[in-house]
Amino acid sequence: MPPLLSYQSSRHILSTPLEQIRGVGPRLLEKLRQMGISSLEDALYTLPYRYEDRREIRKIACLRAGRSEVFYGEILAASETQTPRTRKKIFEVIVSDGSGQISLKWFRYQRNWIKNRFSIGKKGLFNGDIKRFGSRPEVHHPDVEFLPEGVSLQSHMASNPLTFGRILPVYPLTEGLSQKVARKIWHDITETYASCLMSPIPVDILEKYNLMPLPAAIQQAHWPTEKASLEELEEGRDQARRSIVFDEFFFLELGLALRRRGMILEEGIPFQVNHLYTKPLSGMLPFKLTAAQKRVLGEIKRDVMSPHPMNRLVQGDVGSGKTIVALMAALLAIENNTQVAVVAPTEILAEQHFFNFRPWLESLNLQVRLLSGSSSPTDRRILLDDLRSGRIHLLVGTHAVLQENVEFKRLGLGIIDEQHRFGVKQRAVLRKKGENPHILVMTATPIPRTLSLTLYGDLALSVIDEMPPGRTPVTTRLIPENHPKAAYDIISRELEAGRQAYIVYPLVEESEKSDLKAATEAAEHLATEIFPQHRIGLLHGRLKSDEKEAVMTAFKNQQIDILVSTTVIEVGIDVPNATVMLIEHAERFGLAQLHQLRGRVGRGAHRGYCLLVHSPRCTEDARQRLEVMVKTTDGFQIAEADLQIRGPGELMGTRQAGLPDFRVANLLRDGYLLEQARDEAFHLAEKKDFLSNPDYQELRQALMDRWGDRLELATVA
Ligand code: ADP
Ligand code: MG
Repeated sequence: MPPLLSYQSSRHILSTPLEQIRGVGPRLLEKLRQMGISSLEDALYTLPYRYEDRREIRKIACLRAGRSEVFYGEILAASETQTPRTRKKIFEVIVSDGSGQISLKWFRYQRNWIKNRFSIGKKGLFNGDIKRFGSRPEVHHPDVEFLPEGVSLQSHMASNPLTFGRILPVYPLTEGLSQKVARKIWHDITETYASCLMSPIPVDILEKYNLMPLPAAIQQAHWPTEKASLEELEEGRDQARRSIVFDEFFFLELGLALRRRGMILEEGIPFQVNHLYTKPLSGMLPFKLTAAQKRVLGEIKRDVMSPHPMNRLVQGDVGSGKTIVALMAALLAIENNTQVAVVAPTEILAEQHFFNFRPWLESLNLQVRLLSGSSSPTDRRILLDDLRSGRIHLLVGTHAVLQENVEFKRLGLGIIDEQHRFGVKQRAVLRKKGENPHILVMTATPIPRTLSLTLYGDLALSVIDEMPPGRTPVTTRLIPENHPKAAYDIISRELEAGRQAYIVYPLVEESEKSDLKAATEAAEHLATEIFPQHRIGLLHGRLKSDEKEAVMTAFKNQQIDILVSTTVIEVGIDVPNATVMLIEHAERFGLAQLHQLRGRVGRGAHRGYCLLVHSPRCTEDARQRLEVMVKTTDGFQIAEADLQIRGPGELMGTRQAGLPDFRVANLLRDGYLLEQARDEAFHLAEKKDFLSNPDYQELRQALMDRWGDRLELATVA
């Protein structure tokens, strides 16, 4: 039993570099480094990725197909053979224990090494998934542990108590580090140091969800107890792993909760609703707001009229009408003599917002400007001057808006579009450009609830869950690229009926030049060979801003029938008369992007078509993505599918978003734990004395440790 440690000294021990641990020499140290393990804490959190059930060694005659089993036996034969049809080489070993025989097979191996290893007469323990094809059971690529010569199973077991009669961890290893050595190291480390992992989550919370304290959880995740269920272990649902994951989520959510609370307590700029601009705009709009838009606008109004700054996320599927909601919010700010900043992740998007907003604002006699990377130094200086003096009411731009020299006279509202491409940091920078301005973030990319709880956990959420009326469903078809005629026929028919079409090319290589070349050549080919009687326009990232505007305007005014484009039109373009979206090399796009692109059609009264032209040789993942597109048009279903196919890590790194990483948690598997942890953490953070009560001292300390400098606790009152 180690002495009771203070929180501080246990932290200190956990950060011990591994070279200071007895038994860890330079060679081993290097191996561990390769696995990303450099401290004791890293090692404790490197959990087995699988387990081997050695509670029972089964007779070969009693092996059960479809299970992972451990058996003991002697090698009767070992040889290289070939499969009859494909003539692939196989290494096969026959093992017997007297009760029966089993065949071990390897399909990938190093010939000399394997021949030496499996010589007749050797005895060993084997573990793997049992399969049954013919009379004899089989196991492919089993784990093997040979017994020293002349040693019986009984005495071998007696002299290795660590590795028998229990469930053994299987670690993810690098070459040159065997399971045997790894088990020894992790056994020593967990025995001695797991108790240093202090996690001051209140006991009543642990009890409520049937969780165990962190040290015990880590210990058991490495070395499960005799009674553990192998099934639960393999699915990551065992009590130990649940406890570790809950712990990770809890501190994440506690940080978010405090940040939210801190922001809520700050003094903001309370707006008054005087309808100076919002009313005239409502009069000019060619449509009525949907009930969902009105509800969200109501939520925004309530926020901005309160004495505290707004921090709200508006989530709405492609085409749900977020732009107008943002514009209304902007006018509220301008009515209150403050300025508005709109930040978008790309130049194209920023330009589109600019072109969208400008006509409305100009008709209200308000100044709107675009800050783009391509503005000349003189233009830029004038713009920055106008901004500082307050002559500009609304500024649209990319990250450039976040630069230090961009100063507002009085920023009242910051709007961030496509929030998923920005991190928490950018939001903080924007907030500092004013005195606690209101912040509105919008995302068109629907994200699964578990992910939004993590990424936007500190924001209040509004959802536009209704489409404007008069939308028609979009028909999606997969078209193999060697049979493009089906696609061209649909386009011809639609153009003859007076509609318009988009044809989109992916970024072929990571260079704008080749990107441009593919689109240019395609446009020429289409104009001369396929659609000679139609007008074709070309849009790509290398056009100047006014050239782009000219092409887009021509398409809007139906002076162009087919708009050939690189992915620049991905987001925001709005031409209701366009009914066909043809996507070339659709297999190269992600689901979110395909969904965005498809959202460009089906905006008017006419049926829309989305034609996904793909290579017949695309990967399994790509095929799955395309099939999801055919199956559903619901953005949230698409987002869930994306999470399933790609896994949460790739979808969005939490680190990129400025949040702590997860070591064990998996958003896909552990969503329900995230919600539980969130409930508890938010509840705790609401306590008035949470930041002062000495009872929570260790909890606060642990929070600081987990978040490092990412948590601006200083802003908390
Ligand atoms: P997104 O949410 O993808 O940004 P937009 O704001 O671009 O969507 O809106 C999509 C289209 O729907 C635009 O043409 C917009 O003018 C139109 N629209 C927005 N709100 C309504 C509404 N209430 N009724 C009819 N059309 C609307
Ligand atoms: Mg939009």
